[in-house]
Amino acid sequence: MFIGAKRKYPFSPYAFDMNYIILDLEFNAAFSKHRHRFVNEIIEFGAVKCDEQLNIIDTFSELVNPQISKKLNTHVSALTHITIDELKQSNSTFSHVMSKFRKFLGDGILMTWSNSDILVLLENYRYFYGNDKLMFLKYYVNLQKYCERALGYSDRARQMGLSACAEALGLKFEDNTLHRAYNDAELTAECFKALYDEELLKDFIFECNDDFYRRVSFKNYNICDLRDPLVDRREMFFNCDRCGKRALRRSKWRLKNKSFRAEFRCLRCRRDFEGRITFKKYYDSVAIIKKIVDLSDKEKRYETNKALP
Ligand SMILES: [Zn+2]
Repeated sequence: MFIGAKRKYPFSPYAFDMNYIILDLEFNAAFSKHRHRFVNEIIEFGAVKCDEQLNIIDTFSELVNPQISKKLNTHVSALTHITIDELKQSNSTFSHVMSKFRKFLGDGILMTWSNSDILVLLENYRYFYGNDKLMFLKYYVNLQKYCERALGYSDRARQMGLSACAEALGLKFEDNTLHRAYNDAELTAECFKALYDEELLKDFIFECNDDFYRRVSFKNYNICDLRDPLVDRREMFFNCDRCGKRALRRSKWRLKNKSFRAEFRCLRCRRDFEGRITFKKYYDSVAIIKKIVDLSDKEKRYETNKALP
């Protein structure tokens, strides 16, 4: 891996070197009296700017004086240790911080851990400016997806957390400094640096066009109707997890907790199990997640439950 090489960003219409801006946000579940609903109001911005050699060349850390709610959600204050008084002392509202951040970002590539921060940024943009797009944004990378791929993490049912990624990479961090925007941004940058791969990164850089906004706003969901054309019935089989032989289905499929379930028997092992299959719809794909649950375990659990008063 050779990071030192000077290169021009391949898709960029510009001829200068690109910076990477890794952003993390803290936000509060704020009740808007005007809109009669909760809004994820941003209360802190933290970001680092890296050059193409991944050296940190600038940093950004700002508290936001909240405009929607002057009350902090207890979960948010417990997690971040930010107090409402600290926020009120900040001279900058969302608009102020945003204009500073836009200057900080410049034409760089914006990166966040998972797309929740960019969704929250969009939500705040919509609330304060009535704008559905971040017009200043040119390129975006979801570093959670990038790091998952780089680490070969393949559990599509569960996303990898930032601290889990940092631990997997042997990065040192203080638990009590996490969940503050700047620290999280810095740790995310370290994960990115540790897993930097120029070729792989190209697959994760999205140009922020209309398709990008459709993609980022798409809510993944589990398909709950077997007649849905996206359900591939040919995938609804199970191989025995002990011997690998195709198991015999012994019941009808039923839906529970958004997964299709049926009883199976391996004729070779004389083993009964429940097969659970989930079809998860992503923006441009369907993931099939299969799980085998031992029937005897389940029966035991059931009996324990029955014994409860
Ligand atoms: Zn078997």
